[in-house]
Amino acid sequence: MRNCFSFLRERLSIRSESGITRRLYSIFQSYGWTTENFRRNLESLADLLEELEAPATFPVTASAVARHPALFGRLQKRNMEFAVHGYRHIDYSRLPREKSLALLTRSREVFRRYGLCDSGFRYPFLRKPALGAGLLESCGFLWDSSEVVSWPLQRPEALENKHWNDYLQILGTYDPEELKPGNCLPRLKGRMVEIPVSMPDDDILFERLKLPDRLIRAIWEQILTAACLQGVSLVIQFHPERWPLFKQLLRHLIRRAREGREAWICNLSQMSEWWRRRSFCTWKTEYRGAGLNRVVVNGPAGLALLGSMGMQPETVETSSRRDGLTVTCRTRLKPVIGVSPQSSESLFSFLGEEGWAWERTETPEGYPVVIRHPGALTPEDKRRLLSRIRALKAPLLKVQLWPAPHRYALAVSGDIDGIDFWDYMGRFYGS
Ligand SMILES: [Zn+2]
Repeated sequence: MRNCFSFLRERLSIRSESGITRRLYSIFQSYGWTTENFRRNLESLADLLEELEAPATFPVTASAVARHPALFGRLQKRNMEFAVHGYRHIDYSRLPREKSLALLTRSREVFRRYGLCDSGFRYPFLRKPALGAGLLESCGFLWDSSEVVSWPLQRPEALENKHWNDYLQILGTYDPEELKPGNCLPRLKGRMVEIPVSMPDDDILFERLKLPDRLIRAIWEQILTAACLQGVSLVIQFHPERWPLFKQLLRHLIRRAREGREAWICNLSQMSEWWRRRSFCTWKTEYRGAGLNRVVVNGPAGLALLGSMGMQPETVETSSRRDGLTVTCRTRLKPVIGVSPQSSESLFSFLGEEGWAWERTETPEGYPVVIRHPGALTPEDKRRLLSRIRALKAPLLKVQLWPAPHRYALAVSGDIDGIDFWDYMGRFYGS
């Protein structure tokens, strides 16, 4: 019980007095004593996702799944993917590792018992345990989406100080990384894929900042435009309990992202699977004589070569019998990086995530460069390696970040902490 009160006190301490009143009012409004309110929101959200043929991901607490399994079973068939959001909505950064392990294992069991996909995870409050490396992987999860990237937000004119301070305070609790080149993309972590979630979310824009709809729409349009220019993975977060507030906005954003087929609209499992398969695609070169190289790339459907690689391939073909590409090009050297087989997995996966063509070789002949790195790569090793590759004068093949013809990826996500007031209160009963 003491834990319960200290947790409550801490959550309230990151809000101003008016923020606490607003939050309590909105909790009662959103959840209600029965499931009716929330069920209606989720079904209306599913209607929109079906209408727009857009998949989306909803991390949900396993205790809510256990209380309402039929609802989640129905919604799973309607473009809604569910992911584990802890057993109850508690702060896992404060639990001993063994306790977390037991709860996460129990959560996956609940998901499996009711036939829900249990491969993805998001920590409640987006708070990862500091010593949690490998915890999710050891439980068998394939992806996590708990790290936060913060998009730059100009302070809107005439915004009251208390609202701006509210925003800064909640943002601080997420320990976000500021948006930089390369940090708004999925990343391999062991066998898992970490997919960062973007801020600001609906909680910040609607509840903390209390911005007018036209300004929220303008902010999101700017973020979509920037995401497209930078080719990143944009994971947006809209909590279903605020569905009536963002219904029109979400419809507009998905339609806007679809224009010109610029965005690949996917759920987080699809994004993680794409990233894993793209990162581990294999390249095999064969010299055909007279300067002609044939390169067979085994990888996911939708794989496409990057436009500028220092040469123009003669042919690029896809096959109806298998995924991937076959490329022919006239180059003096093989258009791939040679990698010594004594190198570490860390090097193979780094080159794969960067999209470079590479193959294992014992001999340096015929390659523009051969790399050998037996140990795990440090960030400094990665920087040096990239500048060495970019300084090469020889043509090299490289694949695009996202399935053709898309320039960036957009995933809609929304955490479900509970369906009714009783689920919501469950967080105060500890585990
Ligand atoms: Zn949550």
